Amino acid sequence: MVVNFDSRRVQLVLALRKAGITDSKVMAVMESIPRNIFLAPILVKHAYEDVALPIGFEQTLSQPGVVGIMTQALDVTDRMKVLEVGTGSGYQTVVLSRLVRRVYTIERHRELLEKAEKRFKELKISNITAKYGDGTFGWKAQEPFDRIMVTAASLDIPPILADQLSIGGIMVVPIGQTSDLQSILKVKRTEDGFETEEIREVSFVPLIPAEV
Ligand code: SAH
Repeated sequence: MVVNFDSRRVQLVLALRKAGITDSKVMAVMESIPRNIFLAPILVKHAYEDVALPIGFEQTLSQPGVVGIMTQALDVTDRMKVLEVGTGSGYQTVVLSRLVRRVYTIERHRELLEKAEKRFKELKISNITAKYGDGTFGWKAQEPFDRIMVTAASLDIPPILADQLSIGGIMVVPIGQTSDLQSILKVKRTEDGFETEEIREVSFVPLIPAEV
């Protein structure tokens, strides 16, 4: 089957608009990234649908609408140094890399990290530094960060990560007490503490296509 990825990408943009993405830079970057290369061949036909998809180890490539909402909430500029926790497929990492100066990303599954790094090379991206490890400890040698994006749900705002934010810095993190419903929080570090704002409720339940 020949898949016309160009028309699929147009579909994706429409889905992103529906999800509430109004930031034209985020929209343009997401439109330009081939989401199919982040997936196993059997799932490629679903690459431009607004659904989360499995990437192995019970992890998922996040739904594009959620990637868009979280990226928009992070409110980045091209001068920023950003930390991402949970590289996964590397899709969110690549979206960020096109919008900021440098992205540091941490993944706790070695195999996922290796695959993601191959994709960064394939796309000829040179402003991503990736490492294997537990991202809840952040990346001490590189702090402070202008922005921190956490792409795995946490029970509470991770304190070490909050501490690695610069003053005026923003962290976007899904917070949830249950496994299938989280709230995306935007946490801003001020001179005297932290301000939080709820962006929206999300469900990270992956869609498993019937034929898999
Ligand atoms: N942004 C990813 C979504 C990945 S799902 C994408 O677009 O593909 C969440 C990822 O966070 C998984 O790959 C999981 O292994 C990773 N993860 C969970 N806890 C972690 C931790 N403590 N440190 C680093 N990575 C973690």
